[in-house]
Amino acid sequence: MADTPSGNKSEKQPPPDLNLDKPSSAGTGGSKGAGGGAKPGGVSSSRSSTGKPQAPKAATDSPEPAKAKPSAGTPKPGGQAVASAARPAQPAKAVASAGAGPQAMAEEAPPSRSFGSLFLLLPSWLISMVFHMVLLLILAIWVIPEPDRSGLSRIVVPPPTKVEELEEIREEPLEQINVESPVDTVVIAPDPTQVPELPKSDDLDAATVKVDLENFGLQQVPRSDLLAHRGTFFGSGLEGRGKGKGQLLRAGGGNEASELAVAKALKWLAEHQMPNGGWNFNHAMAPSCQGKCRNPGTETEAWNAATGLALLPFLGAGQTHREGKYKENVKRGLMFLVSRMQRSPQGGSLYEGGRGRMYSHGICAIALCEAYAMTKDKYLYEPAQLAVNFIAYAQDPVGGGWRYEPRQKGDTSVVGWQIMALKSAHLAYLQVPPITVRKAVQFLDSVQTNSGANYGYTDPGAGAATTAIGLLSRMMLGWKRETPALERGVQWLSNHGPNINPGAGTANMYYNYYATQVLRHWEGELWDKWNVKMRDSLIQTQAKQGHEEGSWFFTGEHGTELAGRLYCTAMATMILEVYYRHMPIYRAHAVEAQFPE
Ligand SMILES: [Zn+2]
Repeated sequence: MADTPSGNKSEKQPPPDLNLDKPSSAGTGGSKGAGGGAKPGGVSSSRSSTGKPQAPKAATDSPEPAKAKPSAGTPKPGGQAVASAARPAQPAKAVASAGAGPQAMAEEAPPSRSFGSLFLLLPSWLISMVFHMVLLLILAIWVIPEPDRSGLSRIVVPPPTKVEELEEIREEPLEQINVESPVDTVVIAPDPTQVPELPKSDDLDAATVKVDLENFGLQQVPRSDLLAHRGTFFGSGLEGRGKGKGQLLRAGGGNEASELAVAKALKWLAEHQMPNGGWNFNHAMAPSCQGKCRNPGTETEAWNAATGLALLPFLGAGQTHREGKYKENVKRGLMFLVSRMQRSPQGGSLYEGGRGRMYSHGICAIALCEAYAMTKDKYLYEPAQLAVNFIAYAQDPVGGGWRYEPRQKGDTSVVGWQIMALKSAHLAYLQVPPITVRKAVQFLDSVQTNSGANYGYTDPGAGAATTAIGLLSRMMLGWKRETPALERGVQWLSNHGPNINPGAGTANMYYNYYATQVLRHWEGELWDKWNVKMRDSLIQTQAKQGHEEGSWFFTGEHGTELAGRLYCTAMATMILEVYYRHMPIYRAHAVEAQFPE
């Protein structure tokens, strides 16, 4: 397994806050981490899923048959089994009592003989009963693992005494059943340059994934199903569309101007989609643009990150590949991501070179999970679940975080995207390993200060963006509104206010994106105050003319050089969608729909 990357990169990075620029210092050689682990070999043989627990499991599985044999094979002639079982005890006893002299030896001998004769004296019905009980036990053990389907072959009759191991083996597949069969069915890695057609969805029932609840366990089912409703606001009846959105918009503090800005932004994003269905941070590569818009990003390698980031604002506005004005754009974007996914026993990786790396994967995982949650399109089920599996695999097994390379010691910035993806996955009824969530909490604990009101980057600290990410993550992971540290943290963010200066054209959109969500969930006066400034500043700074119309660009943040206008536009749009984009996921019950312990 590709454990190698852990810690092979420079641990100490300059301050956090900023996104895509961070990875820069770590170089690109590390692609072996995910790339290596993500090679599509041996796909069919694995149980995949979370990846990491698998190898150890398989190792403990294989010895089983050998251990099992003695107990399974001997009992044939009934009495003999008991006799042979008793015999091995004798030498031990003899050795133990050797020091006691011949007398002791003499005393020792009779028991074995008397045991034998006693055995002969036993009534046949008793022997028969014992034999049949043993037989039944063996049969039971043989039969019980049956439902574990394909993994069965590896579980060959564990010895009856190994009850604990048996339970372990039986639990394991429960978490992962769904994952394996999809992996088995995927053999072809599609050509990224050829975007295949999505299957036609004439039959809504057929398109809906039948969720197999027994694979989840009740405790894993989210208490609210609100994410699905985001689709229905715009998806099922035309009447329901504008209505639901309008209500949420007004209730949350949005207005017509903010909605107009979102509409223009989506138009700009759609116009800068590439012919292959993806997006690139160098938006000038788009045929319709060809440099008409300024400020292209310099990070041209991170196709996945750019595509995931461009898709999120569409999804946030209720635009899916099934519904809405931009369904063709969304469809081609999703297909692009699916075709780029590297499948392996560790899951489906959208890790990529350049500076995207695990950022790319987290962002794309959110897009896939949201699209799946909103449409329940069977086609997206597998990629979404595999993306979650890869997140679980890529988690630092020690500290619980995520960073540029899979299994590297974490940083708060990369962690934020993965946690958001896990939350979307959870609400989409995808399987999120509880251990992954617990370890993510452990990571947050390790970088917090002020009892959890503030967060650092890779160590305890109190950066602005990292604090916003940490607090939003805490909300996602179940902190109640009453938590004192949360209240202090929110107040802290409120005191900082939105980081945007329309006059100077500067902003930190990374911080704004997370902090806006935190304040939005907090609601009340602090939100109202935040919202007015954030909303109106964005409306004011949106490009008003030329090909740039509908987009944003700010300086003052390293990430904007790398990811350019596309990045600024995606982040600004999602901020203006906060009134309805996150309501289904986080607001009301959803925020409190905790992961299972
Ligand atoms: Zn342009």
